[in-house]
Amino acid sequence: MNTYGRFPLELVRGRGVWVWDHQGRRYLDGVAGIAVCTLGHSNPVMRRALARQLRKLQHVSNLYRIPEQEQLAAWITANSCADAVFFCNSGAEANEGAIKLARKHGHQVRGISSEGAGPLILTAQASFHGRTLAAVTATGQPKYHQGFEPMVQGFRYFLYNDIAAFEALLTECEKDGPRVAAVMLEPLQGEGGVNPGNRAFFQRVRELCTEHNILLIFDEVQVGVGRTGRLWGYQKLGVEPDAFTLAKGLGGGFPIGALCVKAAVDHLRPGEHASTFGGNPLACRAGLTVAEELVRRKLPAHAEAMGQLLQEQLSALVARHPSLAEGSRGWGLLQGLVLREDGPAAIDVVKAAMNQGLLLVPAGTNVVRFVPPLTIQPRHIREAVKRLEKALIACQPQTPSAN
Ligand SMILES: *Cc1c(COP(=O)(O)O)cnc(C)c1O
Repeated sequence: MNTYGRFPLELVRGRGVWVWDHQGRRYLDGVAGIAVCTLGHSNPVMRRALARQLRKLQHVSNLYRIPEQEQLAAWITANSCADAVFFCNSGAEANEGAIKLARKHGHQVRGISSEGAGPLILTAQASFHGRTLAAVTATGQPKYHQGFEPMVQGFRYFLYNDIAAFEALLTECEKDGPRVAAVMLEPLQGEGGVNPGNRAFFQRVRELCTEHNILLIFDEVQVGVGRTGRLWGYQKLGVEPDAFTLAKGLGGGFPIGALCVKAAVDHLRPGEHASTFGGNPLACRAGLTVAEELVRRKLPAHAEAMGQLLQEQLSALVARHPSLAEGSRGWGLLQGLVLREDGPAAIDVVKAAMNQGLLLVPAGTNVVRFVPPLTIQPRHIREAVKRLEKALIACQPQTPSAN
């Protein structure tokens, strides 16, 4: 179906941070399948692990115990605030699970009756939570709702990082008694423009959620699994959620998603939620391999150092081209170059970068996003920024000279 406005680029091969098109042209990959290919392309450890798993067992169903799934869940719970994990296949699906969990929490813990409009979930404007019906309703961007109404009931929106707006909405929703089941937030808004969460804001939201027994859910689909320089995005904020979702980087290119919960909110009982493919042996082997390599190669710390270098290089680039770009922001290897309102559009810079052999992805209309493999090295970052500079210059408006 015609659901994507695709670039006329056909990629056929990859190795590390490089990909090749069908004509043999090489591109430095600053996209990594949109924050997915954590270990780069065609990683030898991943290749061997998946080949071995394919020879052993690929899929059985959650009718049975799956040791690879138990091991991956054990790794996640040993290394995060979560105590239990539900596996699925994508970010949207993980968030759908979180939304079901939130509603059950609303009914069971907060005693919100299903009469009237039922439990509410509060999410941020400019957020992104996926494209399935409830996840897209949670997404606070009207452009993604348009044409698909009626949206799912029970969502309200507030301005990200704005504590007054959040408190006002919470007060209004709760004026006649308990109504709010959950608050769902990205620690850093990725798709919405690479907007890092504000610590004070998140800490206050945490306090209010604790006070009212409201579930605090973090969507870590883009920021989780080492990308920000910490294993989980919430560690950048010093705030623990009650539940968080993962997908993108978890399988390093193999589809897998996860809903991770603390024991106190582990509300779903047998039969209440399921997935045929979710957490199958092959997907969990991919996740386990990402986890093992993340630890062995200390990739979160590496992402932090490489992110610092990228940030320095982007700041210098902005200083050289103040008429085109106004700044850069982000955490670790999730960085955005912010273009000037009167400068080139992000999509045009992305296209120009492609001509220079560099893959990047827009985040909204005026931010160009870098989400490379976590294995990227300093020489690649310097090369990427060189290519980006050539792309920016190519986007400069061709004003006729004054004389
Ligand atoms: C990409 C993304 C999603 C959706 O993930 P899919 O795997 O495409 O369904 C959800 N939330 C965030 C924060 C994302 O970046």
